[in-house]
Amino acid sequence: MARVFNFSAGPAMMPEEVLKIAAGEMLDYQNTGTSVMEMSHRSNAFIAIASDAEKLLRELMDIPANYKVLFLQGGASTQFAMVPLNLMGENGKADYVNTGMWSKKAIGEAKKYGKVNVVATSDDKNFNYIPALKKEMFDPQAAYVHITPNNTIFGTRFNSLPDTGDIPLVADMSSCILSEAYDVSKFGIIYAGAQKNIGPAGVTIVIIREDLLGRELPITPTMLGYKVHVENESMYNTPPCYSLYIAKLVFEWLKNKGGVKAMQKINEDKAAILYNFLDSSKLFKGTVEKEFRSLMNVPFVLPAEDLNSAFIKQATAAGFINLKGHRSVGGMRASIYNAMPVEGVQKLVDFMKKFESENS
Ligand SMILES: *Cc1c(COP(=O)(O)O)cnc(C)c1O
Repeated sequence: MARVFNFSAGPAMMPEEVLKIAAGEMLDYQNTGTSVMEMSHRSNAFIAIASDAEKLLRELMDIPANYKVLFLQGGASTQFAMVPLNLMGENGKADYVNTGMWSKKAIGEAKKYGKVNVVATSDDKNFNYIPALKKEMFDPQAAYVHITPNNTIFGTRFNSLPDTGDIPLVADMSSCILSEAYDVSKFGIIYAGAQKNIGPAGVTIVIIREDLLGRELPITPTMLGYKVHVENESMYNTPPCYSLYIAKLVFEWLKNKGGVKAMQKINEDKAAILYNFLDSSKLFKGTVEKEFRSLMNVPFVLPAEDLNSAFIKQATAAGFINLKGHRSVGGMRASIYNAMPVEGVQKLVDFMKKFESENS
């Protein structure tokens, strides 16, 4: 079967070039006579893969020297616990912004380890906007402020970062890392699961400012402390070797594409193709307030439930898969991460136009 356009929110589609390289190296990685899957994580070949991955990520995100980069397991959901376990010790309290289901899960987890203050929420409108944030809203004594810059399920995006003064800003970038340029120096911690914009599930990226290390609560399990992973260069135990290898290939692919700024421009163009159509359509409608629209996840609806299901069914048959929206929003969601080519979005819009003319 020919490859389809996969609009899954995650695990998401991968760059075809990367899959081909991985296929070519599957049985014999660079004359080692083994697959990367079969290698010791202490071997020279694998240590080179891991250190290249870090070097490339540092270059792509322009990560300052006073930040450590970790490749961990457990997904972004484990970070929901690791962040409070490692930072809450200072004052026992933290500020969170609630912009959807992933924020809510982070809040729920943090509550187990300290006092959580939800400084703002957009739950009054089913999270279709980002609440306004002013510096005065944050507790100067908070150990950190937690945000979700891109809300995968609701399709919203912070169009600017909050000014938190000296309070470290912690960001769950699972669905926007490497999709647009961020100034890493504005953050205390950035974390992201890989399966949206980086590679296969299994590897989780943590970028942490050095001065935040060594503050873990005494109850913190060894595996959930950042410092132990920093001291062991992400090899305290076996890292997710194969996922990390693919992530390295994706970083090389992104570098060859011109890096994050070039990718951001492509992503803006891709999103505009879809949003311009939604704004001009008589049938399809975007669900998010315009100024907070995500570049990565685009939710939209048709005027009736039977039209939504007819559209999803016909789209799937035409090779546009995984367009069903999350149950909390309904309708459709097109996730258009870095690996989705412009062509895929253009063809989807052509298909939507055809559906519109047949159903109005
Ligand atoms: C997908 C996602 C998660 C969950 O990631 P896991 O790696 O499955 O734990 C958390 N936060 C955001 C913003 C996500 O998009």
